[in-house]
Amino acid sequence: MADQLEQPRSLVRHLRALARSGSLAPYLADHVQLPQAWPLTVNVDVTRGCNLRCLMCASDHGATPELADEAIWPALAEAVPLTAELSVGCLHEPTLHPELPERLADLSAAARAAGWTGFLGLLTSGTLLTRALTDRLLQAGVGLLLSIDTTDEAAYARVRRPASWSALRPQVEYLARQAEARGRFIAARSMIMAETLPHLVATIEELAQMGLRRFSLAQVQVAPDASVVVHRGEHAGRIDGAVARLRALARSTELELDLPSAPDDLPDGALAPLLGDGDVWDEHRVGPGRRGICLVPWCKVRVDHAGWVYPCPHKQRRELAWGNLLQQPLGRIVNGASARRDRELLLAGQAPDDACRRCPYGPGVEAP
Ligand code: SF4
Ligand code: SF4
Repeated sequence: MADQLEQPRSLVRHLRALARSGSLAPYLADHVQLPQAWPLTVNVDVTRGCNLRCLMCASDHGATPELADEAIWPALAEAVPLTAELSVGCLHEPTLHPELPERLADLSAAARAAGWTGFLGLLTSGTLLTRALTDRLLQAGVGLLLSIDTTDEAAYARVRRPASWSALRPQVEYLARQAEARGRFIAARSMIMAETLPHLVATIEELAQMGLRRFSLAQVQVAPDASVVVHRGEHAGRIDGAVARLRALARSTELELDLPSAPDDLPDGALAPLLGDGDVWDEHRVGPGRRGICLVPWCKVRVDHAGWVYPCPHKQRRELAWGNLLQQPLGRIVNGASARRDRELLLAGQAPDDACRRCPYGPGVEAP
């Protein structure tokens, strides 16, 4: 029973199983209104700003970093019953927040005291990590996810402007050593781009040698001027080749890899869950066919630094928000009129707005 699911991955697996059996659509229709305990993945930006200007960034950074309102922290603690995974950092750099470790520690303590057993994580480029900040974050009791697309010095400099891999490497080594000593969760997320693809396998091997054991790789649609690869023609062969070598590497080591692939196991025309799982990260493969329905409004939300709640990072304009966490509890927001309308229209094969219409996961046709 999905209503008893505890982990976001098991939610997506459950939905994929329903898609294979042809019973996904009625299930989704029954869950336009989400239960009050539901395993959402919640991504939260506790700052607005970033020290980098990456090649692939889709964020609208402020000129000066703004911190989230202090009220966001108790609001998040109250929201955890609707959450299986809560990750801080999404479209902005969270370590710009000067009290981040202490706020995360308080959030973790409040959530655990209330009986929450979900995953609390921090997603960061790592470029602002010092040894002192690393120690404080590890003491906070959160899982650490590093955005590292490549360990090739020249490619890193072109992608993660103006940072450098040689400056970051000692911090990652220190973090990996300290995390292992404390038995803490540490992982890396990487985007596959034209800049990074030639170095992909070497990057994973180098990070694994440094002690990282879990990786998720994504081919993500980004700003039109970014140097992304499309999973077609020559690039498709190169991506498939790299993925095959990484699968072999994972089999011979203890690495856990989430790799991009098309949802080929689903029947044509099925209402297929296309987002939210490690093996459906490849937007360029799923986009042209538009074979399924976007499940994000059933599975995820993103909260910005001002408390506005959106289903995904493709939506950043206030008029597309479902509500504000500083004004309403998450349970009301995810079942408010905007959220229900998004689910109903996507289920009916119509895009609720221009963001969904342009998105590779959307149905392409905007509702009248
Ligand atoms: S680190 Fe993330 S938020 Fe900052 S510029 Fe790069 S992609 Fe954007
Ligand atoms: S289809 Fe809409 S809700 Fe789904 S990921 Fe795209 S923009 Fe977000």
